[in-house]
Amino acid sequence: MNIKESLTKIISSIPSDVTLVAVSKTKPNALILEAYEAGQKDFGENYVQELCDKHEQLPKDIHWHFIGHLQSNKVKFIAPFVHLIHGVDSLKLLQEINKQGQKNNRVINCLLQVYIASEESKFGLDFNECLEILKSPELKQLANVNIIGFMGMASNTEDQNQIRKEFQSLKKFQSSLITNHHPLNTLSFGMSSDYKIAIEEGSNMIRIGSIIFGERDYSKK
Ligand SMILES: *Cc1c(COP(=O)(O)O)cnc(C)c1O
Repeated sequence: MNIKESLTKIISSIPSDVTLVAVSKTKPNALILEAYEAGQKDFGENYVQELCDKHEQLPKDIHWHFIGHLQSNKVKFIAPFVHLIHGVDSLKLLQEINKQGQKNNRVINCLLQVYIASEESKFGLDFNECLEILKSPELKQLANVNIIGFMGMASNTEDQNQIRKEFQSLKKFQSSLITNHHPLNTLSFGMSSDYKIAIEEGSNMIRIGSIIFGERDYSKK
């Protein structure tokens, strides 16, 4: 299947209110353009330098999602144009995003990254830490960031039941906050291997790379 066929197949199988973010990390501009010309407008990248280069070289109406781990000192490079930052995991990072948002005279949309997998990971917040951030007085001072929901990643396992449970825990957490004043309705979870389960469990933003662009080859980077 070529890129256009893969995209069409995925899009025809998902509800229209689910946003497909095509994860293009490590992939050349030519392939991204192929997807763009097939109608895809949302793309996800994990590395700041790569994202900035691609933003400069590719059509300006692309929505660029930053889905990697963002270091505070690199926020300034993506702040002028980034559409959504998925992996926010500290108040300190939010404060820096706010500062750069201010400099660029824009409000930057963010998702809190929640740690739902059972395996060890350095990144992500637990539910209590999310609540602390959402309720903190400091957050109210940040006029140039907007937290619009949550991002999560299930365990890297064959056990579909476990993946399903992990997604459910995030959906349940989000639902428990709906009464709050935050517009937290974006749920970014589901990748190539588990996006069908993710949508069944309430995801409305899926991040898909390899089944669109093919497997990634890191040895050439
Ligand atoms: C690479 C990546 C994806 C896409 O993974 P695939 O398995 O290729 O679909 C999704 N989310 C994050 C955070 C990633 O780093």
